[in-house]
Amino acid sequence: MGVRYFKELVKDIFYPKDYSCVFCRWPLEKEYLCIMCRDKLIEVNGEKHIKIENETLNVNYIFLYSGYAVELIQKLKYKSDFRVGEIFAEYICNFIKSKCLENIDYITYIPMHRIDERKRKYNQCKVISKYISDYYDIDMIDTLIKTKRTKDQIGLSKNQRFRNLENVFRVKENLDIKNKTILIIDDVCTTGSTLYYCKKELQKLDPKEIIILTVCAR
Ligand SMILES: [Zn+2]
Repeated sequence: MGVRYFKELVKDIFYPKDYSCVFCRWPLEKEYLCIMCRDKLIEVNGEKHIKIENETLNVNYIFLYSGYAVELIQKLKYKSDFRVGEIFAEYICNFIKSKCLENIDYITYIPMHRIDERKRKYNQCKVISKYISDYYDIDMIDTLIKTKRTKDQIGLSKNQRFRNLENVFRVKENLDIKNKTILIIDDVCTTGSTLYYCKKELQKLDPKEIIILTVCAR
């Protein structure tokens, strides 16, 4: 019996999980989403190419950000429903397998500002990353710090919003990712600005490759 299996077993005995669909509450076996509700998600498993400055940002994503996918993101983000984190991790792991992206050295995620994270008590991207890290036994590392709060972007033009994110993210000190393949996880990609700046920061440390994977994209 593997250590991981044993840990899972212990967890199940002491913290029995409520296996039912997060949407319709249909009882299930070891799952949180029933077939009917799964069908309502628009699964793309595609790649988006976003032109930013003079570069093209490649963003892999699982779902189209609409309908049920928006509801799932909200459950995880605002209602602390971590079962959704497991659902997303399951889709992401299947995507990683299908695209043969399995030579990843580290998993990381888009950080929140410490004040916002303290308020929410968790970072939803970190939650998803942790599940993937456990599943694949790949280390999850904190790589970036968000130095400014950027919530109030209302009233700014697309270009102003983009400029507003400049110098907001910073790589952590003493981070060694040289020649490593890094997977960055984000929940929703809209303009790609956040991912663009985060990738730029990580690139300063000469990684071999940075793969971007978001749960949803528009
Ligand atoms: Zn259901």
